[in-house]
Amino acid sequence: MGKLPPAFIRGLRRIVGRKNLLQKPTDLFAHSYDATNKPLQPQLVVRVTDRGQVPPILRLANFFKIPIVPRGAGTGFTGGSLTVRGGVVLLLDRLNRILGIDETRREAVVEPGVVTEDLQRAVEKIGLFYPPDPASQDVSTLGGNFSENAGGPRGVRYGVTGDWVKSVLAALPDGTLVDSGEDPALTQLLLASEGTLGVALELRLHLAKFPPDTATVRALFPDTAKACDAVTEILSSGLAPSKLEFMDAETLRCVSRYLGEPPPPGDSTLLLVELDGSPGEVGDNLPAVRGIYERRGAVELSVAREAAEQEKLWAMRRAGSPAVARLKPLKINEDVVVPRGALPRMVETIEELRHRYNLSIPVFGHAGDGNLHVNVMCDPADSGEHARARKALDELLAAVLALGGTLSGEHGVGLSKQPFIGRELPESVIELSRRVKRRLDPRNVLNPAKIIPPSEE
Ligand SMILES: Cc1cc2nc3c(=O)[nH]c(=O)nc-3n(C[C@H](O)[C@H](O)[C@H](O)COP(=O)(O)OP(=O)(O)OC[C@H]3O[C@@H](n4cnc5c(N)ncnc54)[C@H](O)[C@@H]3O)c2cc1C
Repeated sequence: MGKLPPAFIRGLRRIVGRKNLLQKPTDLFAHSYDATNKPLQPQLVVRVTDRGQVPPILRLANFFKIPIVPRGAGTGFTGGSLTVRGGVVLLLDRLNRILGIDETRREAVVEPGVVTEDLQRAVEKIGLFYPPDPASQDVSTLGGNFSENAGGPRGVRYGVTGDWVKSVLAALPDGTLVDSGEDPALTQLLLASEGTLGVALELRLHLAKFPPDTATVRALFPDTAKACDAVTEILSSGLAPSKLEFMDAETLRCVSRYLGEPPPPGDSTLLLVELDGSPGEVGDNLPAVRGIYERRGAVELSVAREAAEQEKLWAMRRAGSPAVARLKPLKINEDVVVPRGALPRMVETIEELRHRYNLSIPVFGHAGDGNLHVNVMCDPADSGEHARARKALDELLAAVLALGGTLSGEHGVGLSKQPFIGRELPESVIELSRRVKRRLDPRNVLNPAKIIPPSEE
């Protein structure tokens, strides 16, 4: 990695101004991380304050052939916002204006740096609803959500980010602006492209009517098999819950320790269901959920109708990620999806790996979508444990594919999952993706070396 050419830096300074070129060691350090906790330091951070600055920055980067890596809030789990071989981080979090909310058309137009929850709050004030709810929603940006096609608990009923994007205005790698307008194919091409095919500068999003009522039902089951049976019955009953979340016994033990509460008995597994809709619908569906839970052997059942009570029931689920992270220095956080019907088999496989490799593998996630966050925990300083974790991971991924699943539900591929992509996609598809990238980005400047492994020639 050579030094950045002075003429390139001068050009950037003319576009964004001196104070938006961040090059102090602390700035570079702060932008060398995302949630993977594997730092890769950029040579420069450029803070964009007006979207009109992005096309000339990209043209300049093409001229000098310098990598440009878009970044929202840097909460990604797969290294997408990190520079691989130096280059520039393009910081988009100041493009954070909600440009308009059209109540009649139920649409919002936003800049990419708007924090997800800020949009949700703004539309809720006028009775509208933006459902995608990644657990990082109080920090992550809508541009980052679009680029990863982020999902969350509400995915089971409302789908993921891509289901709510009407169109995108983006700068292609050479700086050309395109508006996908009514062309869904262009929106789809850029969606989940992890900042490798374009920089999203404006998103037009669909909104729904805010559901007037919700209820949460939390239940503990004596074992995972019974909880999986309850999931299957709820989904086949036509109840359409707005959330259906799962936490296994190992996660529950971590969470209890983290929250300073007594651990639940034995191998208890937790299921949380949220229902939403009109008060009538919610009231009518609650007894059906209770009935299923009771028939499937729930040992402890709590129902909450008021917001504050519901929040208490969700506290355990929200604590899942931070609680698990305290177990060991390294959390290999896999985000796998299996067909819903294969959930019990997947959970059994994880249980078997846990015992055979003598590892902590807490699991939680969106049971309603078959999307499980499987956390293989280890201490890299313990070479034996680290090697066992790598083997368990390898077998886990093989099992997911054998069950007809996918290796990345919502966290993208980035760098972390790049080594495994060839196990899921045929070489013909990978080669086609390389050709699309080469066509749109012949100088390979926009977020290079991500998602698709380099070709062997
Ligand atoms: C505690 C925690 C919980 C999480 N929970 C969830 C969850 O429930 N569901 C889920 O899906 N994810 C989750 N994530 C992962 C992460 O928050 C999401 O992937 C989120 O969408 C990333 O948004 P960001 O603004 O932080 O993007 P960044 O991390 O900054 O970037 C992510 C990718 O998008 C690209 N990018 C960012 N902005 C743009 C843009 N405007 N144009 C083009 N490319 C761009 C970057 O280059 C990078 O490849 C979680 C992360 C954490 C730390």
